[in-house]
Amino acid sequence: MSELKIAIQKSGRLSENSKKLLEECGIKFSNGISVLKTTAQNFPVEVLFLRDDDIPQYVEQQVADIGILGENMVYEKNKDVNIIEQLGFAQCRLSLAIPKEETYPGLGYFINKKVATSYPKILSDFFKKNKITAEIEEISGSVEIAPGIGLADAVCDIVSSGSTLLTNGLHEVETILKSQAVIIGNKNLSREKQEILTSFLFRIRAVKNAKENKYILLNAPESAIPKICSILPGMKSPTILPLVEKGWYSLHSVVKEDEFWIRINQLKEAGAEGILVIPIEKMIL
Ligand code: ATP
Ligand code: MG
Repeated sequence: MSELKIAIQKSGRLSENSKKLLEECGIKFSNGISVLKTTAQNFPVEVLFLRDDDIPQYVEQQVADIGILGENMVYEKNKDVNIIEQLGFAQCRLSLAIPKEETYPGLGYFINKKVATSYPKILSDFFKKNKITAEIEEISGSVEIAPGIGLADAVCDIVSSGSTLLTNGLHEVETILKSQAVIIGNKNLSREKQEILTSFLFRIRAVKNAKENKYILLNAPESAIPKICSILPGMKSPTILPLVEKGWYSLHSVVKEDEFWIRINQLKEAGAEGILVIPIEKMIL
């Protein structure tokens, strides 16, 4: 039986989360420092450890069947691959930044300016679309020091908090692209590989759903139950179990992680006591 070849970043900002995702999907593999390729022990996949820049090309050529990398790199490399699933980690944006003492009048600022970036394709597409003629200086790393050393007037770089820009005397003026980690796939997978991919995606979604939800348990008097049920939109309806103390019940349900603080206050106001919120490991809908 053939294996699905998954390319992940060897070392960098995506590697830990990519490995964690495979582990959370129950895929076990060894990972030594000098290992470039390994076969999983309990799932038909082979993991390749590569530079993120090379992953789109390898997936297009089917050296790897699928790959995990940032959307920014997928668009920059512009290879003929499918984006299969967004993974929710490595969230960042590709932005234009200029020296912080300069005021920004709008995109016209960049006309005839020199902009340093590691993303020449995305940037030149953006300038073309907005009819800006500017010079693009391609550099492969430490882009944010370019204005400080006189190499360029501005930069186009990956930003998450913006603190690196500030430290280098720059301020962010335009967001070109929002990015997160995604799975890309070759367009001509065999039926056998497609089946392995389907079961891998099933596991990924179970892990993602679990992360987005919490299991909640609480105690309440019988009179508060209708109100509490209307606050808790569980997977179906909440489970209600009687307590030893007469007239009191335990309610169990699932709430969305991002809603749960709002719900908790509503629940307390409705008469809930002894509220427990518990992480879910896997969730299959
Ligand atoms: P490689 O050696 O594999 O070429 P790299 O140095 O090019 O690695 P990293 O800095 O590890 O790349 O970044 C990999 C990806 O992580 C980026 O393409 C981007 O999608 C995402 N990323 C980069 N910086 C951040 C950040 N500050 N916060 C969140 N995600 C980020
Ligand atoms: Mg890279």
